[in-house]
Amino acid sequence: MTSREQRIADFIEAFRVEPGSKVKLGRDFDPAFRGTIKSKKEGRRLLAGGIELLAEYQSRLYAQHTHGVLVVLQALDAGGKDGTIRHVMTGVNPQGVAVHGFKVPSSAELDHDYLWRYGLQLPRRGEIGIFNRSHYEEVLVVRVHPELLERQNLPGNARGHGLWKRRFHEINEWERTLSRNGFKIVKLFLNLSKEEQRTRFLRRIDLPDHNWKFSSADVREREYWDDYQRAFSKMLSNTSTEWAPWYVIPADRKWYARIASGAVIAHALMELDPRFPTIDSDARQALLEIKKTLEAQSPKGAAADPFLAG
Ligand code: ATP
Ligand code: MG
Repeated sequence: MTSREQRIADFIEAFRVEPGSKVKLGRDFDPAFRGTIKSKKEGRRLLAGGIELLAEYQSRLYAQHTHGVLVVLQALDAGGKDGTIRHVMTGVNPQGVAVHGFKVPSSAELDHDYLWRYGLQLPRRGEIGIFNRSHYEEVLVVRVHPELLERQNLPGNARGHGLWKRRFHEINEWERTLSRNGFKIVKLFLNLSKEEQRTRFLRRIDLPDHNWKFSSADVREREYWDDYQRAFSKMLSNTSTEWAPWYVIPADRKWYARIASGAVIAHALMELDPRFPTIDSDARQALLEIKKTLEAQSPKGAAADPFLAG
């Protein structure tokens, strides 16, 4: 590991939810944490470095075409998911990235099992897929609002006692299958404080250009704050696994959340360590034969191989 890679690995350790540990959000994670990074300016420099690294790894991931990466983003409203995606993915080739947002399921989606619509949007090999909200809504919003579960038309044996534990288990197994088959899952929870959410809602009201972002539904959801904190804590306690651990990203400072998210994604790519494909000596020999033919076609006055000559 290079020293840059080691620094990234050390930096993200504080955000990782140890598999099997019992998380209580309010007690265990501080939304305003910023560790040793002193200023926004220093943060910006780090983010630029991280973005460069990400772009470099992504081009290798794309060329190698063996692994895919799924970034799962969860947050409370105004948690900064959109901004994180925009900033962290700036340097990467759009051809290798796909972002999918998940809203309230349609009736066609509700006609399938609860994981179906997420499976349809998984990244291909070589791609980084981003889920803006994800299958975790199925143990978050659906848990906080039991009437949503009613709409899922579940048979008797899939409801009732033990439902959430079972979903946690099913999600873990689904992710295990994906990860064993080449798809790395990076799970980020943007952890916002209640006071910072209030500030961001007010900002959306105060700035006319931001009014479109304001939704009174978000303010109604805020009334369920404690229920959400409990649901997130249970999700983190039950679905952080060796193959797909959760990272709790301090989100009260947007700039910090972006660096931290970028670092976790870069780290996942470092672990995959994709390489540009190389060819064997027979294939190389065949290329050299083709090269001879192309060189023989050089028009008068042109170099046999303008690339080497240039
Ligand atoms: P924005 O930043 O644009 O507000 P958003 O992700 O909040 O993005 P919205 O259209 O505001 O998008 O909200 C989507 C809503 O869909 C959220 O309230 C979310 O909880 C809800 N939702 C997502 N998945 C499910 C699901 N499986 N069941 C029920 N509701 C869901
Ligand atoms: Mg919203």
